[in-house]
Amino acid sequence: MNMNESIWQSIVNCEPTYDGQYYYAVLTTGIFCRPSCRSRTPKRDNVRIFSSIEEAVQAGFRPCKRCRPDERPYGPDVELVMQMKDLIQRRCHERLTLSAVARQLSISPYHLHRVFKRVTGLTPAQYICRTRITRAMELLKHEHNKSVTDIAIGLGFRSISHFSTVFRQATGQTPSEYRNHAFAHVHDGG
Ligand SMILES: [Zn+2]
Repeated sequence: MNMNESIWQSIVNCEPTYDGQYYYAVLTTGIFCRPSCRSRTPKRDNVRIFSSIEEAVQAGFRPCKRCRPDERPYGPDVELVMQMKDLIQRRCHERLTLSAVARQLSISPYHLHRVFKRVTGLTPAQYICRTRITRAMELLKHEHNKSVTDIAIGLGFRSISHFSTVFRQATGQTPSEYRNHAFAHVHDGG
């Protein structure tokens, strides 16, 4: 989301009417706030705007302890999903199971599955898979010294064929095709 004058004014004036519509993060502190937060107005150049809590968190920002954007207006379910996504993002290379994740978060696997599906539209397994594929695409594109096998094992896939199957289902290409294609693109200057 891009900054504009009305967004900037809502931050300067701590305008509560915009709460929930977007969040502002401050590069120098690593914190994100709701527009209404009473903390000191940051320098405009240091501010980044996000349309959701998740985007801000994924970009590496932490919620402000003062305005608690992570607690309101969202409830405990969204918070649980954020914790779970964070855990999956950090540990997707391990052989994560739903029950292992649930144990970490001190909650029943059944409840976790239900909440996650309702909030995100994906099952935890689908999300883990998607996260791994996204990682794999980055590695295939940028880590040319790593073989496809290294990447598959490093991301916790059981075998290279399992990796290829899952990757192909998700992207329509085998890992090697994807890598060659991405590589050709880089060298076309595109
Ligand atoms: Zn704040």
